[in-house]
Amino acid sequence: MMSFPLRSLRPLPFLTACLRRWDCAFTLRRVQLLRIILAFILASAFVSRVAAEDWKVIRADGRDYVSFANVAQFYRFPHYTRVSRSVSLRGDRRGIRAQAGTSEFSINGVRFFSDYPLLANPEENLISATDVAKIIEPVLRPNKISGAKKIDTVVLDPGHGGDDSGTSGPWDNEKNYALDVALTARENLLRAGFKVEMTRVRDDSVSLEDRVAFANRFSNAVFISIHFNSAQGGSGVESYALAPEGVPSNASTENHLSSLDTQWYQGNAQDTANIALAAAVHGSILSRVSVFDRGVRHARFHVLRDIKIPAVLVEAGFLNDRIEGAHIATPQYRQQLGLAIAQAVTTYNRAVNFQSSGPIIVAAATNLPPHAHSITDSLGEAAPNWSNPPQKPSAAIHSSN
Ligand SMILES: [Zn+2]
Repeated sequence: MMSFPLRSLRPLPFLTACLRRWDCAFTLRRVQLLRIILAFILASAFVSRVAAEDWKVIRADGRDYVSFANVAQFYRFPHYTRVSRSVSLRGDRRGIRAQAGTSEFSINGVRFFSDYPLLANPEENLISATDVAKIIEPVLRPNKISGAKKIDTVVLDPGHGGDDSGTSGPWDNEKNYALDVALTARENLLRAGFKVEMTRVRDDSVSLEDRVAFANRFSNAVFISIHFNSAQGGSGVESYALAPEGVPSNASTENHLSSLDTQWYQGNAQDTANIALAAAVHGSILSRVSVFDRGVRHARFHVLRDIKIPAVLVEAGFLNDRIEGAHIATPQYRQQLGLAIAQAVTTYNRAVNFQSSGPIIVAAATNLPPHAHSITDSLGEAAPNWSNPPQKPSAAIHSSN
């Protein structure tokens, strides 16, 4: 049994400056950063006249945590239940479920991988302050994302091209599928009134550096990189936002990257907008096609690192999976993916511009894929019962049981 000392959050002198310029925080030491992030959330709640409980910071495993009960109080979830190592937070159109000992949780039935393990002490289940600030806060309250702009332009990036075919399946290559999905997304985005720029519109070779440089020419824009996976036993969709400074990548084994690199990149200036965009794209795809949810994750892919606009990289399915590969090979399925991506941009734009309230993935909760848990299900102690489990989803998933 472990116990952790409780410490209340104290206001910090940096806060005033950081309220004006959120990204100034990265220049401070990480411990200070986490305090500031929590103080910022607290302060913004006061600004909006939301009655809120104080954040109680709990030190565990050398970093700052808060309890899920504290999260429930702060975000005003009317129902909070804890059964052993599992917690469920429920409210109107919102739900969070989590289990201590894992590195994942769900918001409105959509899976997120946490940056640090979820813990439990005898009294409480805990989540790191980083995960609250970098995932829960921007996903639950996208209209409070600091510096998020109303966008009028979407930069679509079909992965690979030319000599680089990407991965392949029995029917076609990743580069061709990615371009086809992007072209469908473009058509729908143009119809919705957005300007659309593409890093390639043909089977051209484009370097990763050129893709980023191209995207950085546009302001009031978001960047969406479209890819497909291939790995023995894998299936499903996963979406990536740039990993925050100091946080190891939690990319799936199929997209394994060095976790030693935890430095700050230009893209980290948009951490909260990045995860909101990733959540919007991921939730939109899950609501449109029935596919295994491999989660919203953090990684340091090249195209996410030095970009100056909110960015997401989506791995939209496994070409080599017998069933999924056959779906992706049909134009109808790819049109659904393209439409889902276009609709996600509208969802994101409305959410960050006060045109809608509530979590950015609310749409996914109304049309969950059959293998996802409803947020109204009992959490209990049972292992997740995926109806279509990949043989090797990731180490993190297996460690949850
Ligand atoms: Zn790829």
